[in-house]
Amino acid sequence: MIVLQIVTEKPQHYNFTPGQATEISINKNGWKNEKRPFTFTCLPDNDVLEFTIKTYPLHKGVTNELLVLKKDNVLILHDVFGAIAYKGEGLFIAGGAGVTPFICIIRYLQSKMKQGTTNSSLPTKRQYIKRGKKYLIKQYPEWPGQNILKLNPNVRLHTVIMHGKKDKICSFDLAEQMKIEISNSYIVTFEKSGHSMFLEETKKFNAALIKFALP
Ligand SMILES: Cc1cc2nc3c(=O)[nH]c(=O)nc-3n(C[C@H](O)[C@H](O)[C@H](O)COP(=O)(O)OP(=O)(O)OC[C@H]3O[C@@H](n4cnc5c(N)ncnc54)[C@H](O)[C@@H]3O)c2cc1C
Repeated sequence: MIVLQIVTEKPQHYNFTPGQATEISINKNGWKNEKRPFTFTCLPDNDVLEFTIKTYPLHKGVTNELLVLKKDNVLILHDVFGAIAYKGEGLFIAGGAGVTPFICIIRYLQSKMKQGTTNSSLPTKRQYIKRGKKYLIKQYPEWPGQNILKLNPNVRLHTVIMHGKKDKICSFDLAEQMKIEISNSYIVTFEKSGHSMFLEETKKFNAALIKFALP
């Protein structure tokens, strides 16, 4: 998997709030009208814009085309949109837009904390590591595990916890603890999967999701 960090010029008067996105197309023949949504991962007051983009070479779409961009190729930025915003401590579910809105929001909160202009209760011990192909948020033992568990009693909605038995990133016992904490929940166990059960046992994952979502 290749994740690109794209840094572009920032058009004048181009504003956004952390968590928002824009549509991007490539100013090349055949690609100008192919708009795709991507989230800003830089801070609003940075002089340049940064995007963190996971590529899908097999789709032969825009992200594949971004892989062969050369210096001085031009991107077309469209309107800014999006309602994802920081509203206090909580869980985030990275579907659709993925994790990128939270990269920006967490960076923003960190910068505010450094300036001492927020009393955010977010833990300060976080570190962002960009490693070649992957953007990782390094987590310390007290986060997110304990925070998730602390929040769970507030989750009253019908909840499905899908977890891979071989997950080495979040071990399976975390799922079992969540099940205890969230009263209206059940676990679907993916015996053959690690952290990416939706890739490793796609059929089972889709069936479990449909069963959960449809009455
Ligand atoms: C609000 C928003 C913000 C996003 N921000 C980021 C980001 O910062 N970084 C990042 O790597 N990815 C982000 N994505 C996902 C990104 O838009 C898709 O990966 C990208 O559109 C794939 O384009 P493609 O042409 O290479 O793939 P293709 O599969 O060829 O795209 C085909 C069609 O599917 C649509 N599509 C594909 N994936 C998604 C998706 N997740 N959500 C909605 N439509 C999709 C495309 O827009 C296109 O119309 C975001 C998605 C949304 C909805």
